[in-house]
Amino acid sequence: MSQKAIAVLTSGGDAPGMNAAVRAVVRTGISKGMKVYGVYRGYNGLLAGDVKELNLRSVSDIIHRGGTVLYTARSPRYNTPEGVKQAADFCRELGVSGVVVIGGDGSFRGARDLTNEGIPCVGIPGTIDNDIACSEYTVGFDTAMNTAMEMVDKIRDTAQSHDRCSVVEVMGRRCGDIALQTGIAVGAAAILVPEVEYDLERDVIARILENQSTGKKHFIIVVAEGVGKVNEIATYIQTRTGIESRATILGHVQRGGSPTLRDRVVASAMGHRAVSLLEQDIGNRVVAMKNGVIVDYDITEALNMKRVFDKELYDIAHTISI
Ligand code: ATP
Repeated sequence: MSQKAIAVLTSGGDAPGMNAAVRAVVRTGISKGMKVYGVYRGYNGLLAGDVKELNLRSVSDIIHRGGTVLYTARSPRYNTPEGVKQAADFCRELGVSGVVVIGGDGSFRGARDLTNEGIPCVGIPGTIDNDIACSEYTVGFDTAMNTAMEMVDKIRDTAQSHDRCSVVEVMGRRCGDIALQTGIAVGAAAILVPEVEYDLERDVIARILENQSTGKKHFIIVVAEGVGKVNEIATYIQTRTGIESRATILGHVQRGGSPTLRDRVVASAMGHRAVSLLEQDIGNRVVAMKNGVIVDYDITEALNMKRVFDKELYDIAHTISI
């Protein structure tokens, strides 16, 4: 029987910890007697034939590095029936009988389509946003939160020196998880997320004035990307309270950097699970975390799940930010 071959790619936005997942896929695959190909620049690599067989040493020295050594891309050309068919044909020519796709929801749709064309695929949630409904955790989330926390700690120093209010936008797209957790960790006076309706007078101004009356002089307001408008919010706060207010958008700094321990460990375990599924020719699955345990779901089922925002934690944040 010929040697089984699988491929691994990273797709969509990059996230710290993707390299740890790639490493785990390569090493698990090789330990199970498989050939493992690295595909460059997401699905584009399957269309351009941009692949390379990886060995144990190809993935040395990458577990601590941010970004992705396989590069990543969004591939509009793949996202067509002809593109998916071409990618499947290429996998067959190469002898690849399974693909691990590390990315977000869009990448999982691509993985489902490729599975339907006869190449079993398994997805690993890799995005800093923690916005994948089927998994309580996505690779990159912990690093992004820690980076945001460190950055806001620095902003707090200067806000404190000048008795200012700093309004800080953190990433997360339509998901407020980075804002919620970072907001708690930096002691924000208010946290605005897309999942919870807010009223600036009630949820920000009244809280600042209340805190001010008990002697507080500087304030951090954490705003999720999905809420946006940090400049407007800062201007509004300054006008209504007289406190000098500044807006900061943290941006892509949150996407980079060396992955935290948690991201490295989760990525490693997820990479291992993905290859174990492909070893059994099981495709169309997404690896996920549920109650701290690694599980896997059918991709369509996973894509149809609805995210649940941690309102209890949000309410706790509200209670203790007085
Ligand atoms: P991120 O969370 O960073 O946005 P993502 O995986 O959701 O990651 P997308 O840009 O949505 O990022 O998708 C990545 C790539 O997956 C697309 O460029 C495209 O090649 C492929 N893709 C997305 N949706 C589909 C689809 N419905 N069918 C086939 N391929 C798709």
